[in-house]
Amino acid sequence: MSSDRPSVDLFWFRRDLRLHDNAGLFHALEAGRPVVPVFIFDRDILDRLEDDDDRRVEFIHAAIGEMQQALAAVGSTMDVRHGRPLEVFKSLTEAYSIKNVFTNHDCEPYARSRDAEVERYLAAMGTGFQSFKDHVLLERDEVMKDDGTPYTVFTPYSRKWQKVLSEKGIPSFASEKRMDAFHRQPARPIPSLAEMGFRPLGMPFPSKEVRDGLFERYGEERNFPALPATSRLGVHLRFGTISVRRLARQASKLSPVFVNELVWRDFYHMILWHFPQVGEGRAFKPAYDLIRWRNDEAEFDAWCRGMTGYPIVDAGMRELAATGFMHNRVRMITASFLSKHLLVDWRWGEAWFARKLLDFDLAANNGGWQWAAGSGCDAAPYFRIFNPRLQTEKFDKKSEYVRRWVPELGSSGYPPPIVDHEYARKRCLETYSAALKP
Ligand code: FAD
Repeated sequence: MSSDRPSVDLFWFRRDLRLHDNAGLFHALEAGRPVVPVFIFDRDILDRLEDDDDRRVEFIHAAIGEMQQALAAVGSTMDVRHGRPLEVFKSLTEAYSIKNVFTNHDCEPYARSRDAEVERYLAAMGTGFQSFKDHVLLERDEVMKDDGTPYTVFTPYSRKWQKVLSEKGIPSFASEKRMDAFHRQPARPIPSLAEMGFRPLGMPFPSKEVRDGLFERYGEERNFPALPATSRLGVHLRFGTISVRRLARQASKLSPVFVNELVWRDFYHMILWHFPQVGEGRAFKPAYDLIRWRNDEAEFDAWCRGMTGYPIVDAGMRELAATGFMHNRVRMITASFLSKHLLVDWRWGEAWFARKLLDFDLAANNGGWQWAAGSGCDAAPYFRIFNPRLQTEKFDKKSEYVRRWVPELGSSGYPPPIVDHEYARKRCLETYSAALKP
């Protein structure tokens, strides 16, 4: 090991890809030693992705490129690696003399074991590991029942959440004001997508802006998928390219309904933290693992391709395939349709969304799927089965959204319904109640 290694701290970026208002980064920059910013394209994650044109990798690559430019302007550079985190840390400890590694919390089961492994290695090397809350507003044990146990029902959780937040407030972490504290070194290249086995789709980088009037209209219009009425900021919240604290502060006076969605986001992260088994393929309510799913592969395939003959379902699935986005109302309808109308195990659908959604997040995706399938902590009761036709009449009355994605609707090129609604409803009720009977 060379003795002229620079003495530094490290900041490890993960789901917080920004230089401003970043809690862990702020603490690193305040700690007094020059800070080397690090990002790892994690092979344990990337090697498991099925598509070589995965939009998320392209998004991360672009976000890192943007930060790299800002760092270059202050004579610093991000040390971007491609590898397995533990191996990368072994090589980082050879390149630098590291006093402390700073980072922000990540509550996913994989991340928890990865971080524990890295922390153990660093401790053996005499290096500290400090992690901070950044990704959500309130986390882990901050919002608990009076008896000290976690909430599993949203409404009382959200009431307590409001109370705790009003006591604690929303802090700011002006990391962007401490750019002078980054370690200076010549620019280092970022591994290209091709070097890592990916090819770009050339998608434009999604806007980080809050559209004019969004908060004012959100409460009224957010359920109508034909309207540009939701923020589309999910991907930026997922990868931390915007700060959830700033967004919540902006929204707080204008749209309680919008803030409530951020509370759902905190809720699902809290659930994943306290009940990590939900992220490892288990139903929150164990009885739901007794359901005898039909798991018809041809029907699953028709659902994925947007060819079920149910226009609102097909529109959503095609929007997802084409853009990596699907409107929340339509996520609920398509998820309910797969698990209840087709009786395909919700985990198949969860995995498909995980593969295709640009804003994919284990906590929210799992929460959404278990909600739709009925197996979740605060789920739709199993006997509430969305009727796709009624949902369309209510939320896409003029079929604008449906026609945007299913232009051949009404022609002979469009398939007939894959299953009759009434028949599927009865079959679902029988199947679910057989599994759930006391
Ligand atoms: P907006 O309506 O503008 O909401 C603002 C933000 O609040 C969102 O970006 C998101 O971060 C958060 N949010 C909104 N609704 C929810 C919710 N119900 N649960 C948790 N957070 C919410 N959201 C994800 O971020 N990642 C997922 O992988 C994901 N998978 C889902 C799967 C299913 C089956 C369902 C029913 C919902 C899922 N959601 C997921 C929640 C929600 O659909 C998306 O957050 C939302 O559609 C993103 O669009 P937006 O940014 O325009 O949201």
